[in-house]
Amino acid sequence: MPKYVFVTGGVMSSLGKGIVSSSIGKIFEAMGFEVTILKFDPYLNVDAGSQNPYQHGEVFVTDDGAETDLDLGHYERFLGKPLSKANNVTTGSLYQAVLAKERRGDFLGATVQIIPHLTQEIKSRIVQVGELTKSDIVIVEIGGTVGDIESQPFLEAIRQFGSEQKPEDVIYFHLTYVPLLRITGELKTKPTQHSVQELRRTGIKPHVIGCRSEVPISKDVRAKIALFCDVDLEHVYSLPDLDTVYKEPLYLDEQGLASQMAKLWNILPRQADLINWKKLVSTYMAPKNTVKIGMIGKYTKLSDAYLSVNEALKHAGIATENKVEIEWVDAETLTAPGEVEKLSKYDGLLVPGGFGYRGIEGKIEAARYARENKIPYLGLCLGLQVMTIEFARHVCGLKNANSTEFVPETPEPVVDTMASQKFITDKGGTMRLGSQPCVIEEGTLAYSIYNTNKIQERHRHRLEINNEYKPVLQEKGMVFSGINPTLNLVEIGEITNHPFMIGVQYHPEFKSRFETPHPLFLAFIKAASGFRNKKPEQKLI
Ligand code: GLN
Repeated sequence: MPKYVFVTGGVMSSLGKGIVSSSIGKIFEAMGFEVTILKFDPYLNVDAGSQNPYQHGEVFVTDDGAETDLDLGHYERFLGKPLSKANNVTTGSLYQAVLAKERRGDFLGATVQIIPHLTQEIKSRIVQVGELTKSDIVIVEIGGTVGDIESQPFLEAIRQFGSEQKPEDVIYFHLTYVPLLRITGELKTKPTQHSVQELRRTGIKPHVIGCRSEVPISKDVRAKIALFCDVDLEHVYSLPDLDTVYKEPLYLDEQGLASQMAKLWNILPRQADLINWKKLVSTYMAPKNTVKIGMIGKYTKLSDAYLSVNEALKHAGIATENKVEIEWVDAETLTAPGEVEKLSKYDGLLVPGGFGYRGIEGKIEAARYARENKIPYLGLCLGLQVMTIEFARHVCGLKNANSTEFVPETPEPVVDTMASQKFITDKGGTMRLGSQPCVIEEGTLAYSIYNTNKIQERHRHRLEINNEYKPVLQEKGMVFSGINPTLNLVEIGEITNHPFMIGVQYHPEFKSRFETPHPLFLAFIKAASGFRNKKPEQKLI
């Protein structure tokens, strides 16, 4: 039987429940336990795929093609292993399952209700994910904040779950916020007291309280929280803002979280092997050099829309002892005279995934600038398509080259909707999704990066490089070094006569982890630091 910990949040959202869940997971994984993390999202969308990433953050894609909440990305980056659609469940998908059962007649005439039918569905997902992954420890993060209407069925379900299990099998971990009143320098505990009261109203008494705050929380303040919330002092943890989220497992481990939780679960704690993790955090804190990456995007404010790309760049930076400075460039500005030349200050340019025509002409300008000035360029999904359109227009002389996503009637559709996508009208879960095989040609840049000819990468797109245009593009120096062997689709394109210009139809960022950076990002950062070293101003130093 696995042990369970339920992570709830109080006071306000965005406290980092995902990072806390991932950190607990990492510590127990480092002790040699098999760990999995399940995220319940209390919204009615069936999955995150239909949500606007600029409002809700990135859509993270798993190997099995689930379009999930960005917290799944944190879980994978911390645990270092792939998760699946069983690890992210929304209210919408629960209702969908319950209603399908109702239509099938599974409930035999019963009145179908939130309690017990929806709560039963919630509880069965908790058990299922543990069984599927054969985990010793199942961490369940409840999205939203205690007190939200939408979270209530989840809180009721985990309350029932707790009373149905042995008491030593279930821990309730409540994450709250302790604001700092700057005028008096005091840390205020009242919001935490209220949020614990709110949680207790649902019938759940937390065993552990994690206190997020701007600064570390003293023993006195923790003692006050322990007393008012009826929790043991050693189960109240300080979780101040840290320089990097990757410090959090270390910070919690130092406070003895794992041994305290093991005591509650009545299991023997083991030594957590966090040596490598610690080493990477120290490297991150003391980089030897800086590389500047220009990320060419449509929106520049909300970087959560590209969270995994940012993290993948960071991982590669650590592995090469570089601080990666990511600067957002609003693609729409790049078509104005004199603007694109400003990209010369970067050591590398990255065009990430995206949808829609806005900003595309600016991204094409950026790709052209990178090609002509031999600046390292990495194109992710849309970034490959943009790079191909640019090459077709300016090197192959196909002036009207475009993607049918942007100009459906374009006379030169170098990027076209995949045949399998042409008649799809539903938006939800219908893209080419998840892990797909790719065969890499030897002697290419891609081969030198991956050092193998068979890879699996994750996808999320509807369009592809049009195979009809391959000969004309190849003739002028574009190489299609990675091909999907079953569907004959271009997966990787590269430009010869350029030190590092590569685009991929997939999303390598979803497979980069803190302890194992992705080879493509690693190669890109290496190329960028090589480019930086060759710049005239570098030579003067
Ligand atoms: N819009 C493009 C497509 O659907 C690219 C998608 C992406 O970058 N994820 O193919």
